[in-house]
Amino acid sequence: MEFNNVPTPSYIIDEKKLKENLEILKDVSKRAGCKILLAQKAFSAFCEYPLIGKYLAGATASGLFEAKLGQEEMGLENHVFSPAYKEDEIEEIARICDHVIFNSFAQLSKYGKIVADIHQDQNDKSGRIEGATDSKGSTNETSNLGIGLRINPECSTQEDAIYDPCAPGSRLGITLSSFEKGLSEYGDAFNYVDGLHFHTLCEQNSDDLEKTLKAVEEKFGKYLSLPQIKWLNMGGGHHITRADYDREKLISCIKNIKEKYNVEVYLEPGEAIALNAGYLVTQVLDIVDNDLKILVLDASAACHMPDVLEMPYRPPLRDSGEASEKKYTYRLSSCTCLAGDIIGDYSFDKEIQIGDRLVFEDMAIYSMVKNNTFNGMCLPSIYAMDETGDVRLIKKFGYEDFKMRLS
Ligand SMILES: *Cc1c(COP(=O)(O)O)cnc(C)c1O
Repeated sequence: MEFNNVPTPSYIIDEKKLKENLEILKDVSKRAGCKILLAQKAFSAFCEYPLIGKYLAGATASGLFEAKLGQEEMGLENHVFSPAYKEDEIEEIARICDHVIFNSFAQLSKYGKIVADIHQDQNDKSGRIEGATDSKGSTNETSNLGIGLRINPECSTQEDAIYDPCAPGSRLGITLSSFEKGLSEYGDAFNYVDGLHFHTLCEQNSDDLEKTLKAVEEKFGKYLSLPQIKWLNMGGGHHITRADYDREKLISCIKNIKEKYNVEVYLEPGEAIALNAGYLVTQVLDIVDNDLKILVLDASAACHMPDVLEMPYRPPLRDSGEASEKKYTYRLSSCTCLAGDIIGDYSFDKEIQIGDRLVFEDMAIYSMVKNNTFNGMCLPSIYAMDETGDVRLIKKFGYEDFKMRLS
């Protein structure tokens, strides 16, 4: 491993691990007969999109910018969901996205016709209208428009409200009562809809998906059964590449839904694609002694791993243990001025010296995409490591990247 040969701080994307994840996902999609998309929100290092595109069906986006990135750099199926779209963006979104998913009947009624006309036009040009994807054999003229609604099955399977779209008062997804109200108010616009979407999981196993699907079927089964509904997108949060994930259960859930409702199934995981496929290499700049020993690193939780403070969670660190587990314990912090910019307390077998390098693991997801230059901190360089262990520089940042956003 070339952790000593890169400047600090640097992210290193581990392509060997990325490929292992992608092999697993490809196998699942083949055996389940579903399509899997990269949720770019978690990982948008597009230097790897050509690789990812060899294994997955495409990408999904949370808005125009991610949708453009997916189209430009992967160029496969391109999907988008946003809680709301802007008038000046919707036409471009419709042109570059195969599926446009709305979060309310009001949004559907506002934009459904615009998207439908653009997609219909594209279908006519490519002859896609009588395409094989029309799995229900519908003769409906408005089939295959790639327009969906996000539903909220109101089935919480996790404790953390910040990551639970089914929490009370959630804005994400249409509840059954709103759905029924929407249908009576905007029934015409519903004719454009050919798919449903739900996203309710976060780092979860397939037993939680099973539970969620039960709620989806109970509440929305009658809509899923409609001939016009051709696809069901089961969102992300499926931790498919984690060692203890029950993939057989996932596959049987998908097969069951496909058979029962005659729909195409999509999954759009983010985390699972680049899980454990990256590192953040950092250096000890100073050691402060204030009852306990505090390492001042050139990496920051606030700037470079914000989920540590937001989730919060403790990032895995190579060759370390819990506080007091090994002989030498330190608090790991950064050189921002934020007192709470603390990564956590870790212990080591040997004493740490100024200049030592520390390697955080599982740093490919929700890290680069969330970076910021708060306090004038430099963005870490991005490297990619190939299967032989060789690293190559993808991108280096400097003062200009800090300055250009500020005036
Ligand atoms: C965040 C998100 C994903 C990806 O979630 P992961 O937890 O990274 O798998 C997929 N779809 C939607 C709509 C999302 O908001």
